[in-house]
Amino acid sequence: MTDPTPESSWCEISLPAISHNLSHALDRLPKDTQLCAVVKADAYGHGIENVVPLLIAQDVSYIGIASNAEARAVRDLGYSGRILRLRMATPQEVENALDCHVEEMVGSLTAMRSLLQTLGQAALPRLHISLNADGMSRDGLELSTAQGRDACLKILDLAQNRVAGLCTHFPSNLAADLAASIARFQKDQSWIFDHSPLHRNDVLIHAGSTLTLCSGQDPKTDVMRCGAILYGIAGLRPDFQSTLALKSRVISVGKYPKGSTIGYDRTTCLPQDKVLASIALGYANGYCRQLSGCGEVLIHGQRLPVMGKISMNTIVVDVTTLPDVAIGDEVVAFGQQGNQAIDAQGIEHLTGTIMADLFSDWGQRNPRIVRQG
Ligand SMILES: *Cc1c(COP(=O)(O)O)cnc(C)c1O
Repeated sequence: MTDPTPESSWCEISLPAISHNLSHALDRLPKDTQLCAVVKADAYGHGIENVVPLLIAQDVSYIGIASNAEARAVRDLGYSGRILRLRMATPQEVENALDCHVEEMVGSLTAMRSLLQTLGQAALPRLHISLNADGMSRDGLELSTAQGRDACLKILDLAQNRVAGLCTHFPSNLAADLAASIARFQKDQSWIFDHSPLHRNDVLIHAGSTLTLCSGQDPKTDVMRCGAILYGIAGLRPDFQSTLALKSRVISVGKYPKGSTIGYDRTTCLPQDKVLASIALGYANGYCRQLSGCGEVLIHGQRLPVMGKISMNTIVVDVTTLPDVAIGDEVVAFGQQGNQAIDAQGIEHLTGTIMADLFSDWGQRNPRIVRQG
C-alpha cells in the first residue's frame, strides 16, 4: 500500500507532471508563437486552483476559459494576464464577466448587435472575431459567402477599436486537412486586412490546439490555445507525463462458489470457485458502465478483471490470484501501480471516448488529492 488517504475513491493529481508538460509545450511552440493555456472544465478535471499557480510560475500570458466561474477563479488566484473565452457567450454572461476582463469571441452580426444593445459601445470588452475558416460551423463567420463577408465588415465597424483578435478552431489535425485549414485561415485574414481598416498589428491571431502543436505544422499564429497537452493527453509521446490517476480501495473480500452470478442482471457466472473483492468505485465516480465486463484494475501491481456490471458505487474484481488481498488495499482504475499501468489507449478503446472527457468527469465526481512530488 502507498501512503494512506482519507478517501475511498479519489483522483490523484501530480503537480510536477503538469509543470513538466507545460515546459515541454512551451519548448515545442513555433518561434514567435505564445501559449494560451486552456483551463476549461475545471482544468480538464485537475482543478483550476491546482493548475493556475503553475501557469503563473511559468509566465503564461494567456489563459483560455469557458464559464464565468472559471474566469473568476483564475483572477482570484492572482492571474493578471489575458483571459480568452473559448466559446461565444450570452450578452448577460459577457456583462457579468466584465470585471474579470474576459476577452470575448464574436462570430455573428446578431451576436455583435445584441452585445452592443446590452453593454453599449463604451463598455465593450476586447473582442475576437471567430472565423469559420476551419469548417467547425460552430460559431464562426463564414467568409466564403457574400453575406458572411458583409456581416464581417459590419461587425468590424460596430466593434471599432475593441477588435483585439482573429481566431479559428481546426476541426481536424490530419496532415492534409490541417494544411488546408491553415491556408484557408490565412486567406480569410488577408481578405479582412485588404477590405477593412484593421491592420495585422492591431490583432492577435490565434488558432491551433494540442494536436496542431503536435502535428509539426505551423499555423503562423501569434497564439496557440492548448489544453490537453498540459494534462499529458498528447497521444503516445514519452516526453509528456501522466498527470491524473483514478484510485480507490478494496472494501470487501469474499469467497463465492462455482455457479454464482455477479451483479445486476446476472451477466457473469463463475465457472469455478473464486475470491471476489468489492471496490469503492462505480459509475457515480465516472467509472462508466461501458467498462462492464471488460474493465481491468491494478491491485498489488497485478492486472485483474472487473466482473459483471458496473454499479453506482461499487465494482467487483476477481482477486483469486491475490491470496493476501485485504480491505483498505489501494486499487488503481487508471494510472500506474508497480510496473503495470492502466493507460489512456486501453481505457479510450474500452469506453469509446477520449481522455479529456474522462478526466473532466473523474475530476468533478471525485475528491482530488494533490501530489507535490
Ligand atoms: C478546448 C479548446 C482548445 C484546446 O484544445 P486541446 O485539444 O485540449 O488542446 C482550443 N481552442 C478552443 C476553441 C477550445 O474549445
